[in-house]
Amino acid sequence: MAAYTDSGAARRDAAVRAAVEQGLVSPSTPLAALLDTTGIRASAAALRAAFDAVTAPGTPVLHAFAVKATPLVPVLRLLHREGIGMEVASPGELALARAAGVPPSRTVLDSPAKTPSELREALALGIAVNADNPQELARIDALVGSASTRSPLGLRVNPQVGGGSIGALSTATATSKFGVALRDEGAREWVVRAYLDRPWLTRLHTHSGSQGMPLELMARGVAEAYGLAEEINGRAGRRQVDTLDIGGGLPVNFGSDDHTPTYEEYARLLASTVPGLFDGRYGLVTEFGRSLLAKHGVVLARVEYAKSAGGRAIAVTHAGVQVAARTVYAPESWPLRVAAYDAKGRPKTGPEVIQDVAGPACFAGDLLAEGRSMPLLEQGDYAAALDTGAYYFAHHYGYNSLARPAVHGFGPDGDGGVRFATVRAAQTIDELVAESGGAYTEGLLGGAPE
Ligand SMILES: *Cc1c(COP(=O)(O)O)cnc(C)c1O
Repeated sequence: MAAYTDSGAARRDAAVRAAVEQGLVSPSTPLAALLDTTGIRASAAALRAAFDAVTAPGTPVLHAFAVKATPLVPVLRLLHREGIGMEVASPGELALARAAGVPPSRTVLDSPAKTPSELREALALGIAVNADNPQELARIDALVGSASTRSPLGLRVNPQVGGGSIGALSTATATSKFGVALRDEGAREWVVRAYLDRPWLTRLHTHSGSQGMPLELMARGVAEAYGLAEEINGRAGRRQVDTLDIGGGLPVNFGSDDHTPTYEEYARLLASTVPGLFDGRYGLVTEFGRSLLAKHGVVLARVEYAKSAGGRAIAVTHAGVQVAARTVYAPESWPLRVAAYDAKGRPKTGPEVIQDVAGPACFAGDLLAEGRSMPLLEQGDYAAALDTGAYYFAHHYGYNSLARPAVHGFGPDGDGGVRFATVRAAQTIDELVAESGGAYTEGLLGGAPE
């Protein structure tokens, strides 16, 4: 029993055990990533329900998953099946969404550096596009002038409400690189005129949140965008802006198994801060990424060696910078929980010992966790890096030519056990050589001037 409960932790424990028993991890396959499909579906349902509860009946709402958070085609396919659209920010991400069968009508393109050919393709497909800046808007002017498009078109603004605790992820600071900085001299008037001059500009976009951002500040950013839409519509004398894209950025709790803050809390806060946004006059687009996937992924790594240095216990595992680059390079901003399992995949108990959980890469800072108190990891055990379903193992970093691990989805087998499905196969060593110029071995030898 307990294999399929509402508890993400219980599902994870069952999956780790099954992964060991079914040989997904082993001495010869010491690293794998696992994705909890039950949890992913529950998060998608919670997102939909949270906004359903605060929007007027009949309001069009598109929840577009920020593909960058987990760019894996089967994950996008699962989310699409659960009623979630896609937010893409590169030709690659657009291709992944299309490979997953997500239609243009449920896709939004947002990147800060779109080329003319990307814009042309998006408009030809009818994908919603949010322009980042005046130069991009000029490119769209030319395209709209020369061909008809079904693409809903918008402009991204930066409400400049301030940043959160992680500078690199703060999108709404005074000097953020994204969107039109609304509080800069003359900017607001320029934006209003841009809309009045372009009857086809019908959406307004802001993405004010990110990990480390307080919900109140996110809501203030959304309120700024709403106020601007009201101003534009007032000056236009019609409902020109018909849809607000409020971005994503709900922070994730990396400190425990609790899903906090919840979509429900954020939707309620938005509804009380910006009531007009939900009264049915505006369609809504959201773009959540991390909060949909983070808690549903685990990196499972075998402890190759257990040693001690200077009195510190060190577990040398196969999960390090290649699967958790942010944590290894910025551990203060991105601490991860690490759970200890024994060689059979059972949760380890026993006295807690201060230890380092190290990765396989050849630099001293390659640590998943430093000075962490947990049951002692021993040779042959498994270390699990938790909450890594977004922005971790799907964002492989090629240091030391360490191969990308397989990603396995897991769910109930209908018989009280766990069934796995391949999401991404492990990168083979041959593929690694090929991707590293293996076809051009002689490339630097011939044809060069003497
Ligand atoms: C990254 C990003 C998101 C998703 O942010 P999360 O913090 O993963 O929810 C949404 N919209 C835009 C424009 C983004 O760049």
